[in-house]
Amino acid sequence: MSISQALKDRNSNLCELCNAENATHEYTVSPKNDESIANQVAVCDTCLKAIDDKEAGFHWRCLEGSIWNPEPSVQALSYRLLHQYKEEAWAENIISSVDLDEDTIQWALSAYEVSAVHKDAFGNVLENGDNVVLTQGLNVKGTSFTAQKGTVVKRIKLVHDNTDHIEGKVNEQVIVILTKYTKKLL
Ligand SMILES: [Zn+2]
Repeated sequence: MSISQALKDRNSNLCELCNAENATHEYTVSPKNDESIANQVAVCDTCLKAIDDKEAGFHWRCLEGSIWNPEPSVQALSYRLLHQYKEEAWAENIISSVDLDEDTIQWALSAYEVSAVHKDAFGNVLENGDNVVLTQGLNVKGTSFTAQKGTVVKRIKLVHDNTDHIEGKVNEQVIVILTKYTKKLL
């Protein structure tokens, strides 16, 4: 996505994480949306690539500076990235050197929250025995059939150790279904 002028202007065109390169991307810090630049961080090509690279620790020494940025979105993203390396002394040092708002820390760590409940594609909580409908056709591994979109799966069973999975019977076979492709029948 191209970057808005207002966001560029906020840090005089520079990447708000490394301050070293020109900002060319607007990065929206989840779970917030891109309605306001207060939810965004202006980042350069290098930082954008590093965000998705789990081995980018060396690059992120720059967060030592950005964590002091006055924008909560920049603080939250910096903290979130540092958190991935918190077992390493350099990251731990940066984290412990700042005193961020509780809200900002929560925003940062929201990316690591694991949901403890099974939810369908629309956020409805699923329970054992519920009936669901498939919101997407599924190729069923190890069988030759496709479960059509709209198939009703009755009396589902939750997979205990994985909130993304449920089990249900389709064509008389018990299959594992991803919760994100289901809609609970109320
Ligand atoms: Zn950068």
